[in-house]
Amino acid sequence: MADKTELDRALAGDPRALARLLSLVEDGSTQVRSVIKDLLRQTGRARIIGLTGAPGVGKSTVTGALVGAFRAAGAARVAVLAVDPSSPFSGGALLGDRIRMQEHAVDDHVFIRSMASRGHLGGLAAATPQAIRVLDAAGFDPVIVETVGVGQAEVAIASLADSVAVLLAPGMGDAIQAAKAGILEVADLFVVNKADKPDAQQVVRDLRGMIALASRADDDWKPPIVTTVAIRNEGIQELVSRLNQHWAWLNDTGELKKRRLARVREELTALAFVALRGRLAGGRLDELAGRVADGALDPFQAADELLAGHAG
Ligand code: GDP
Repeated sequence: MADKTELDRALAGDPRALARLLSLVEDGSTQVRSVIKDLLRQTGRARIIGLTGAPGVGKSTVTGALVGAFRAAGAARVAVLAVDPSSPFSGGALLGDRIRMQEHAVDDHVFIRSMASRGHLGGLAAATPQAIRVLDAAGFDPVIVETVGVGQAEVAIASLADSVAVLLAPGMGDAIQAAKAGILEVADLFVVNKADKPDAQQVVRDLRGMIALASRADDDWKPPIVTTVAIRNEGIQELVSRLNQHWAWLNDTGELKKRRLARVREELTALAFVALRGRLAGGRLDELAGRVADGALDPFQAADELLAGHAG
């Protein structure tokens, strides 16, 4: 990939070149550093839409419908990055369930890719922003980042987005779970999918109750609730228009800039942690650990000494 023409090909939207580049990103390859440096100037244009929710609520179906709606509305290139923080597998695991998105497989202007942590610590937190940069530089807009589940890791990944949509569905018992994981706080928009099922209105009522309890300033964005029947493409236009409203609000209030800054702060912290951990392990860690274990040094002092010269 050091090959310049290969990078140009990826940036022109060639799906094979893009796929290879994203594999390097996923692996945390050292080549990624220079790639990101080269394409940095072409980033910052794409709107990043986060979509999260428990397995089975209908994320793939909603995403597929959204892709179609954005393409129909004139988006030249749309990308979907499906991130699974809990799975060390990529490629197959998530994409296995992507049959519903197959209609887009023949559309050259739609790129769908799954990413997993491949087991390394802090991997996804550090890699996902780079994958988003690559897609952004390649002209994909919007980039839809789909995450599975409703845990802490999903909250972190979801907060990478400019707009975060949290998906729920009746019978999944996940509204309470989502509240526990803190996912409600990061939601800019709620989607109650499977509105064709009888209990959907109850989920909407539960959500309204929870939203009312959350304290928000008067001029703050109030997350709307959109009901959809994704398998029938119902409610998708409403979802797009709510997303567009949120996008306008982000731009009008200056919130977009703030959010993106906060996102880069998180990214830098994640990158620095990964680097620091590596350096600490190579330093005086064993010697200091031995002294603490022997009762010769207290752990706080030891930690200070470990950091001295690394993070001063
Ligand atoms: P994901 O695991 O969150 O990505 O969920 P999927 O998109 O794979 O959907 C899970 C199941 O729910 C599939 O069998 C879908 O066909 C079904 N499904 C998705 N949307 C709807 C809907 O609006 N109504 C109903 N009844 N089923 C749906």
